[in-house]
Amino acid sequence: MKMYDVIIIGCGAAGMMAAMTAGQRGKKVLLVDHSDKVGEKIRISGGGRCNFTNINATYKNYLSQNPHFAISALAQYSQHDFIKLVESHGISYHEKTLGQLFCDGSSKQIIDMLLQECKAAGVEILLNCVVSGVKKNEKFIIGSNLGEFASHSLIIATGGLSIPKLGSTDFGYKIARQFGIQMVQTRPALVPLTFSDLDMPGYKGLSGVSLPAVVSYAGVNFKESILFTHKGLSGPAILQISSYIKQYTDEEIKLNLLPNINLMEEFTGEGGRKAKINNFLKDYLPNRFVDLWCDSAGYNRRIADFKQKDLQKIVYDLNNFKVKINGTEGYVKAEVTAGGVDTKELSSKTMEALKVPNLYFIGEVVDVTGWLGGYNFQWAWSSGFVAGSNS
Ligand SMILES: Cc1cc2nc3c(=O)[nH]c(=O)nc-3n(C[C@H](O)[C@H](O)[C@H](O)COP(=O)(O)OP(=O)(O)OC[C@H]3O[C@@H](n4cnc5c(N)ncnc54)[C@H](O)[C@@H]3O)c2cc1C
Repeated sequence: MKMYDVIIIGCGAAGMMAAMTAGQRGKKVLLVDHSDKVGEKIRISGGGRCNFTNINATYKNYLSQNPHFAISALAQYSQHDFIKLVESHGISYHEKTLGQLFCDGSSKQIIDMLLQECKAAGVEILLNCVVSGVKKNEKFIIGSNLGEFASHSLIIATGGLSIPKLGSTDFGYKIARQFGIQMVQTRPALVPLTFSDLDMPGYKGLSGVSLPAVVSYAGVNFKESILFTHKGLSGPAILQISSYIKQYTDEEIKLNLLPNINLMEEFTGEGGRKAKINNFLKDYLPNRFVDLWCDSAGYNRRIADFKQKDLQKIVYDLNNFKVKINGTEGYVKAEVTAGGVDTKELSSKTMEALKVPNLYFIGEVVDVTGWLGGYNFQWAWSSGFVAGSNS
């Protein structure tokens, strides 16, 4: 049986970072994946340009049962460390918006960079390796279609359940259960939301309409764009808020559809009073939205013909547009999986399981979920680095 210091299961963002870090410390490292390709999620990320980190990343951009859990890993390996690595490979990048850094070229550059680092660190990579089981005596014994391997440390980096066609499995959760490690219920996150035709008659017909908004739920707000879809709502602000919704029984989110203007002032300003309200609103909101909203409310008169209190209601309704959500588009469309291996089972400094010495969990398989905008990769790099430094 071939012996290693460290075996890592899952050749994605976190697994590759852990492998190169352990290899750089002189460890004999085996990195395995059941897929025939490495880093598939990196490849498709950020529309093919990989939003590889966020310059503003702090633990406050992560959801977890323990909101402070990410502090240590982010401090040990920050966005600035990853940016230095990217720069040392001559990969050019740009900030798109809100601190989000993307490759100028392609996400393949990030994959190639990680592969080069793994190669330089002597990491052995085995693809098409389907792990059938893990046993622990003094060492970990990994059974697979390609034979048995043994190691002193085992790092689980098999990610979450989102986008099953890219090879996602519940392997990491099964290993956690096998070793008596608790889990936090998983759920799709950074995911489009759905509403029913009964609650929002006609609104699915707005599919494709996009506008800036502030989306609020349970005291959390995100100001970015939203997008109507044929099933409900998507767009960055909706994906962000979706991570905060834990169940879908009569959940209501609130949209401020006019976050950048004081509509009441506009109504009473020059030219406002004589205009028909539906035509007037089209200067501020998409035409299709205004037609549907005004038709359903019967708003087609001149602004001057409305009483002040009715205008105030219109402003209020557009600043507090309520949508009753009945679900999500599920793991098939979710960018990440919230929940996972319970952080109270892990050391935040090393990612080692407290109950099982030399077993580590890193990346998305852990109950740490980042906002949209490069935060999830940063968690993969940071947690991968600390496990690779300690295994
Ligand atoms: C469409 C899309 C776009 C995204 N864009 C961004 C972005 O721009 N920025 C950002 O920060 N985040 C983005 N994310 C999220 C990001 O991709 C993940 O958070 C990140 O990839 C998690 O890294 P990971 O290494 O933990 O898991 P993964 O990258 O999912 O890697 C897990 C690996 O484990 C392997 N595996 C699974 N099960 C087994 C098994 N049983 N045996 C062996 N191997 C197994 C898989 O094949 C895979 O290679 C995006 C996600 C999606 C779906």
